[in-house]
Amino acid sequence: MKSFSPALQDLIDAFKQLPGIGIKSAQRIVFHLLKENENKALFLADSIQKSFESINECQECRMYTEDDLCSICINSDRDKHILCIVESPADLIAIENTMQYNGLYFVLMGRLSPLDGIGPDELKIDDMAKLLKDKSIKEIILANSPTIEGEATANYIGSIAEDLDVKASRIAYGVPMGGELEYVDSNTLIQAINNRNLIGN
Ligand SMILES: [Zn+2]
Repeated sequence: MKSFSPALQDLIDAFKQLPGIGIKSAQRIVFHLLKENENKALFLADSIQKSFESINECQECRMYTEDDLCSICINSDRDKHILCIVESPADLIAIENTMQYNGLYFVLMGRLSPLDGIGPDELKIDDMAKLLKDKSIKEIILANSPTIEGEATANYIGSIAEDLDVKASRIAYGVPMGGELEYVDSNTLIQAINNRNLIGN
């Protein structure tokens, strides 16, 4: 049944690991790359390699950047007293695209999921708490996804904020339950941010 050479199978398996790519899509991408001229495929391979060599996490907010601090953290026009907590760089971009938020961010790079071995350490929540203390943050907006793990993460961070006397609100209105934030349209997100709920009151 299996008729791919080992190298071809390896390449297909590599693409299959990507989110949203099933076996059929992986095969289609690989056949497309092989059919195209070599330069295109090598450009892709080279871009991936260069990214891993040059891109790292911002030392403050964990957004991907090629510098120590990202363009948002070094921007003096941003409101330094409000911190929006998001699960992923894609969520940060989704909120930035609404052009309605001018504070800082912290990217968790995931959500609490004990069964998958993802705890506060993996999300670097201590680093976030340090930001709250060091940067005199007055308010955090929890933009975690409305999933069970997202809610648990938001509650956990909300309680840390409460201990530190930082006001915490949670985006709610308009964001569908079980949905991923990055797929929510801008208007819905704007409403969600504007109608955020205070936590613990
Ligand atoms: Zn940053």
